[in-house]
Amino acid sequence: MPTHYDLIIRNGHCVLPWGIQPADVGVRNGRTHAIGLGADDTADTMFDAKGLHVLPGLIDPHVHFRDPGDPSVESIPTGSQGAILGGLTAVFDMPNTDPSMVDAAGLAWKRDYVESVAWCDMGIYVGGTKTNIPELGALELTCGCCGIKIFAGSSTGNLMVEDDANLEKVMRSGRRRIAFHSEDEYRLQARKGMFKVGDPYATHMEWRDEEAAFLGTRRLMALARKTGRPAHILHVSTAQEFQYLRDYRDLVTCEVLVNHLTQVAPDCYERLGGFAVMNPPIRGQIHMEAAWKAVNDGMVDTIGSDHAPHAREKKMLPWPNCASGLTGVQTLVPIMLNHVNMGRLSLGRMADLMSAGPARVYGAVNKGRLAAGYDADFTIVDMKKQRTIEESWIVSPSGWTPFAGMDIVGWPVATIVRGKIVMRDDEIQGEPTGKLVKFRG
Ligand SMILES: [Zn+2]
Repeated sequence: MPTHYDLIIRNGHCVLPWGIQPADVGVRNGRTHAIGLGADDTADTMFDAKGLHVLPGLIDPHVHFRDPGDPSVESIPTGSQGAILGGLTAVFDMPNTDPSMVDAAGLAWKRDYVESVAWCDMGIYVGGTKTNIPELGALELTCGCCGIKIFAGSSTGNLMVEDDANLEKVMRSGRRRIAFHSEDEYRLQARKGMFKVGDPYATHMEWRDEEAAFLGTRRLMALARKTGRPAHILHVSTAQEFQYLRDYRDLVTCEVLVNHLTQVAPDCYERLGGFAVMNPPIRGQIHMEAAWKAVNDGMVDTIGSDHAPHAREKKMLPWPNCASGLTGVQTLVPIMLNHVNMGRLSLGRMADLMSAGPARVYGAVNKGRLAAGYDADFTIVDMKKQRTIEESWIVSPSGWTPFAGMDIVGWPVATIVRGKIVMRDDEIQGEPTGKLVKFRG
């Protein structure tokens, strides 16, 4: 008896948890129902993936969609369109919006809003402040919340918990893994006076130096050890941290940004000026090499874009007044596929870092594997497709990318979210049907 499915993906090379194999995939009710199908099986929708690779839905666990905030720069509708055009099936959105997402009312509003306008699935962070610490343990368990985000060093917005006493209180409020922006705020403030307005943009990595990041991480690990609270260090950017964190693997998971794997100082500042400025900064060659070593020896758990758009005018201001942060959600997958084609990591490791990794670190339910019973989220890629990243392709209203002009081999050609094709060959399909990701509490 032939079996009927909602969707069949035929003839693709599937990136399964146990390796890459040719296999057909059958989807029913938004879930992967079977891997390996009969020749006579039928479906409402047939997708021919001949010559293509079928990856488990890729997740960007680090985006700033600026919503509520300034829709002329980014919003959840536009940011999530960028996500699916770039081959992502889910994103986790940071809380430093305007206003910030720091209480139950804000999160309730955002939950409803996400499920009415988002094109991909989304998790939402709750921001920790010095005043909401007693509520964090309850807020981190609310529906769709991927966890607490703490800015231990200043970046865009006014969320910050920088002192050990309050950081320890945060770690004692709740139990899920906390995501940290780790730079030592005291060192940043102490060094700021060493530089002046109009200094070269590369000064950014002198001000926010290696020790600022490393010291921040040492302080956080001392508190994590003391309290037993698991931590996720976002955008690890120094060779010193990757080495040091080896002794904390019982407590810590690590993110690296695609920018820190792709751009290097001083070249990026010479070419891009303020458009290369982000926190923590792009650093020199030894740190990029350490990040790649950490990708390939297993120290890195997730890869994010830290998509954080700003208006061009704000990026063109003299240092240090230029805004910190870069667009990136739409270019994350193509750039990583190019790295695979350059031999820097395997396609299987890329799926581990960009699908299984975020699902494991944040406890996402039914995400992270191409396997029976899991959500039918797929990123379908053409590993041979050659294309140049162009700003005309970027849907973020901010309108720019630091990767414009980069030649890429390997490109996402379809994005499927819970069995629904939402992007095919650069075309967005249907209506926004993104849902909140479910997390284990
Ligand atoms: Zn960020």
